[in-house]
Amino acid sequence: MIIQKFGGTSVGNAERIKNLINLINFDESNIVVLSAVSGTTNKLVSITESLYTQNKTEACAKIGELEKEYFQLAQELFETSSKLAESTKLIEAHFSYLRLFAERSFTLLQEKAILAQGELLSTAFFQFLLEERQIPSVLLPALEFMRIDKNLDPDEYYIKENLKRLLSKHTDNKLFITQGYICRNAYGEIDNLKRGGSDYTASLIGQAAKVREIQIWTDIDGLHNNDPRFVKNTQPVAELSFEEAAELAYFGAKILHPSSILPAKQENIPVRLKNSLKAERPGTIIQDKQENSGIKAIAAKDNITVVRIKSDRMLFAYGFLRKVFEVFEIYKTPIDMITTSEVAVSMSIDDTTHLKEILIDLQKFGQTDVEENQVIIALVGLIPTTENGYASKVFDALSNIPIKMISYGASNHNISVLIDQENKTEALNALHTKLYSLNSHE
Ligand code: ADP
Ligand code: ASP
Ligand code: MG
Repeated sequence: MIIQKFGGTSVGNAERIKNLINLINFDESNIVVLSAVSGTTNKLVSITESLYTQNKTEACAKIGELEKEYFQLAQELFETSSKLAESTKLIEAHFSYLRLFAERSFTLLQEKAILAQGELLSTAFFQFLLEERQIPSVLLPALEFMRIDKNLDPDEYYIKENLKRLLSKHTDNKLFITQGYICRNAYGEIDNLKRGGSDYTASLIGQAAKVREIQIWTDIDGLHNNDPRFVKNTQPVAELSFEEAAELAYFGAKILHPSSILPAKQENIPVRLKNSLKAERPGTIIQDKQENSGIKAIAAKDNITVVRIKSDRMLFAYGFLRKVFEVFEIYKTPIDMITTSEVAVSMSIDDTTHLKEILIDLQKFGQTDVEENQVIIALVGLIPTTENGYASKVFDALSNIPIKMISYGASNHNISVLIDQENKTEALNALHTKLYSLNSHE
């Protein structure tokens, strides 16, 4: 069995949805995971924003506009009047459901239900198309097997057992379609795996069903050696290890959801990144493989906040860091980077939900201060500390940019530097020129 996940661009219009049929592997059992049509989730977010601000007229206007887009998509997608009629009914049902929310006061729970509509629509449309073409397939409702627990982590046992139960009802069937991104939470309510979460759905299903390969089809020919949104002439990286890919996903390479590599790594399932617009391109393969040393790619993680504690009591004290970390643990706030001196500790976080409480608790250890609008630039590859030259290249490239923190040597796979957000593009470009200018095809 394999998993093929197609992102928003790959289902972005009628022509691309039809083209999925050329990309699907019909030779073996296949669970196809679909995102919402590109732009839909953003539009649903915008509808929830209008509802939060009680602007019901604006919300209804946005719902009406999006509904029109789906009527248009159905016109372009289906050839038979029966499927057009079925899809019209489906659109009306989903959008009258959305309109119901404008009649009541709005809550977070309802927001999650609204955001789920994109994936529900795209998968229903694709299933209709397959039916119209008489291609056998089964629509697996993700809300019946994908679940997160009280800590918002995937409930692996529930996912595995329920997926098995659903698949066992269709032993003769080879092609399955399901929704990415959406799930239920520990209370059975509709929830999601956070933005970009369809990649995570694909790897969680891959892990649960122990598949042969997980394919992520998107709008670019694999993972590039730098962020193509900020740097020109980036190049695809042919091969990455699980560790390298996990670091890149976590540190901002948007092509992969931050958590999507771990489930594949746990079951040793290769992850292949492919371009649905240029299927002939090789893309990137992520697998358990010893690689040659070198910095393979650079990524940037935005919206980082630094928390610093200065304390005379830290001098020669043991147990101080444990007490500091405990505060972050209580508030379930992960720390990304940390540097220490004899009298101070700096830590970077990206989740500031509980920052206020964290600062109050930390004050008993010393004087605290906070710096916002920071970015972590992560250089990822196989970077053995026994080989020289890596740190000097990084410092050379960034000689004109103030570096706030550095992390080097913690793992063989990552050198991270923390800089001001405003220097991000310059830093990514300077590092690119320094590290890859000989390889780039300018
Ligand atoms: P999808 O909708 O298919 O999930 P995404 O927009 O989530 O697609 O991810 C693909 C995008 O990720 C690319 O178009 C590119 O702009 C961005 N991206 C950021 N960093 C990288 C990188 N290192 N390599 C490739 N793409 C990247
Ligand atoms: N549709 C969701 C989003 O836009 C999930 C995804 O595309 O992966 O974030
Ligand atoms: Mg994505």
